[in-house]
Amino acid sequence: MLDILRRLVQAVTEAENLDDALNIIVTRIKATMQTGVCSIYLLDDKTGCWLLMATDGLNPSSVRIASLCKNEGLVGSVGTRGKLLNLEDAPKHPAFRFLEETGEEIFQSFLGVPVVHQRETLGIIVVQQTTRRRFSGDEEALLVTVAAQLSALIAHAKISGRLYLQTDTGENPKDIRFKGAAGISGITVGTAVVRKPPAYLKHVKDGKTDNPDHDIGEFQAALAEVKVELERIGESLSGHLQHEETVLFDTYLRMLEDHTLGGEVCQRIRSGENAPTALKHVVLDLVTRFEAMQDPYLKERGTDLKDLGRRILSKLLRYGDELLKYPDDAILVAEDVTPVMLGEMDAGSLLGIVSVKGSANSHVAILARSLGIPAVMGAVDLPLADISGVKMIVDGWRGEVVIEPSEMILKEYQYAVRDAENLASELLRISDGPATTSDGYRIHLLLNSGPFGELLERQRSWIDGVGLYRTEFAFLSRSRFPTEDEQEIEYREELATYSPMPVVMRTLDIGGDKGLPYFSIDEENPFLGWRGIRVTLDHPEIFLTQTRAMLKASVGLNNLRVLLPMISTLEELRASKLLVDRVVHELLSEGFVIKPPQVGVMIEVPSAVYMADELALEADFFSVGSNDLTQYILAIDRTNARVSDMFDSFHPAVLRALRQVCDSGRARDIPVALCGEMAGDPMASALLIGLGFDELSMSAASLAQVKRTLGEFSLPECRELATKAIQSTSGHEVIQVMADAMMIRGLSLLVPPGLRE
Ligand code: PEP
Ligand code: MG
Repeated sequence: MLDILRRLVQAVTEAENLDDALNIIVTRIKATMQTGVCSIYLLDDKTGCWLLMATDGLNPSSVRIASLCKNEGLVGSVGTRGKLLNLEDAPKHPAFRFLEETGEEIFQSFLGVPVVHQRETLGIIVVQQTTRRRFSGDEEALLVTVAAQLSALIAHAKISGRLYLQTDTGENPKDIRFKGAAGISGITVGTAVVRKPPAYLKHVKDGKTDNPDHDIGEFQAALAEVKVELERIGESLSGHLQHEETVLFDTYLRMLEDHTLGGEVCQRIRSGENAPTALKHVVLDLVTRFEAMQDPYLKERGTDLKDLGRRILSKLLRYGDELLKYPDDAILVAEDVTPVMLGEMDAGSLLGIVSVKGSANSHVAILARSLGIPAVMGAVDLPLADISGVKMIVDGWRGEVVIEPSEMILKEYQYAVRDAENLASELLRISDGPATTSDGYRIHLLLNSGPFGELLERQRSWIDGVGLYRTEFAFLSRSRFPTEDEQEIEYREELATYSPMPVVMRTLDIGGDKGLPYFSIDEENPFLGWRGIRVTLDHPEIFLTQTRAMLKASVGLNNLRVLLPMISTLEELRASKLLVDRVVHELLSEGFVIKPPQVGVMIEVPSAVYMADELALEADFFSVGSNDLTQYILAIDRTNARVSDMFDSFHPAVLRALRQVCDSGRARDIPVALCGEMAGDPMASALLIGLGFDELSMSAASLAQVKRTLGEFSLPECRELATKAIQSTSGHEVIQVMADAMMIRGLSLLVPPGLRE
């Protein structure tokens, strides 16, 4: 059975469109089960009826014609009850309804099973036979297994194949929606420009050279051409970008110059491979290594590399440069939109971006944000082949693309655009100075600083420092561990940028979804494995080097605070503090003028919540990582799309943990911050202050909205809301309480992208 299934799934995956996929299913099942008929009915979203979509055994001309209402017939009965039906004598069943056009009158026995995807019944697979018999347990099991295996494929094919290509009147259907991740906020309407990669590395057939010097020359010439091209694109974009973001193009250029890429290719050419073959192997090998990592940032490096490789290949193969002509209202759409593709477009006519792959963390997203262009990332079901030149709405707030929008939907979106514009202009009017509640209670807003300094000058007066500097970036952007000196330079830049404000630097937090290409951690359950402080305590040399670099970087600035990730026991805190003390003594004896830094604990594991009283006695401050704390309290893998709609930081179980941490911190008089995504969600702002947080640390993009929101609530109101929320029984209830409180105050419920999906 496994073999049958494997082959069936393979064939369906390779099918060109929905009809082909369904036909393969019915033909194979009929043959395997040796029945008279196998048919598939799918729910027609427009009519709410079960429409016959494919059959082997019934009258083929009834396909897409024969249909049954939601509760009608045996099919309707399977569909509404969501349970299989196995009948020896189907016509005798009270629900039986004869479909004349199908010619099914000769069939007696009936076995129907629902095809369910994400709790929704998409359709029904039916087998029928002329003889009167009950289908065996094995046959039931086979059909149920097939239905379960195929449901996701059918769901995908149904969307991407645009199930109902023609309406009854022969028009194209309107308002077809595709979900993605909210990339860059904003909404726009434009014409899809679908871009293909310049050349495919995978299509290169392996070949040899008998003149390696010639091939090396060709490769180097191609490399140089791409370099010139990238420099030109970087320059053309630089007028639209802040200085820091042009770093992306420098990164590309550095990748080209990096001896690992060029050196390895030349080495392979010298050993006999021709240039395209050598390039293919080196690039694809590197890409595979990057893509195998779960860390979204590193995955993006894989995408960058692939794009670079394709560009060099297209030069090697002497592909002519495509003459690019775009409409004035272009929406750039591609399997994997790259920064270079962006750079090739005229920034004036580029209205939106849609990428089938990628996430809100990708380089393209960072660039799009600086250009102020709405983007939807990870729109996995988008049928790229069909949508060139099509009108589309890009909704970067909700992470949605609407193809061929109707007048009605366009109007609706225009209202949303107006709301978003109102919000944006309100946010522009926010005054200078620190955040307070409406009754003047001072709140510390802190910055989660990233590798691309995104803080605008006017935002500086709103913050009291950096609440989270993720040092992983210094490690992720290299092909080996950074040296103490290299780290010191990066940390010093960060500390100096925000001096005299304090900067919280987190020690290396790898493991879980963050891997290093040169230090692989392969585990069955990485989130419950070797992560954060567990890794660096097992490798004190990494920890010692890093803290030495941090402390040396703080000489003369003295604004460093050290934060320990993933602490789950008191012993880990003690062991880490001993190492920090050791570094302090070492550096003092080496003559460095340093002060012992404050050492804080990230509270992101349930055991740390329950041990918060004890931890608070020995830590200088707490910072709650709500991303991980939510994941561990609710047992929802934060990277698993299948359960992502259950990831809910507003869940009362999470809020009760937060309250406990605040109470423990307060009792021992240490500051308690929150630095996960929740801190930047305006819907959570008043709630978090009410729970007792002193500091909220968020990305620059969230500061304005959080500051504005807090200014509308008094401290007693915040506390009252927190009490109400804690007593709620679900995250939904909490959101409702907060949404009501915001609406009464005329606050927008629009949220920064990536939050509260
Ligand atoms: C968190 O877990 O909330 C956090 C801030 O850390 P990271 O997202 O880097 O794991
Ligand atoms: Mg974390």
